[in-house]
Amino acid sequence: MGADRFKGFVSYGFYKGGFTTTKPAPFESPKDYMYGSGSMAACDNCSSLSCTKCPRCEKPHCFDCFWNKLHRC
Ligand SMILES: [Zn+2]
Ligand SMILES: [Zn+2]
Repeated sequence: MGADRFKGFVSYGFYKGGFTTTKPAPFESPKDYMYGSGSMAACDNCSSLSCTKCPRCEKPHCFDCFWNKLHRC
């Protein structure tokens, strides 16, 4: 993470995760990549249905593992 093109997405994720109450400005989402093909496979960590594909290890993760548990790879 940290690439400029993911900046808006990251702040949106923190907003969704309840880390901030500031609603981020509209952004161009990389959802075609993050939520594209393969993103609905089982979470690589806990096997629940994933919704986020990690841009680094390219493994699917559920919202809880990726955002709430701050997935590192
Ligand atoms: Zn998980
Ligand atoms: Zn990863």
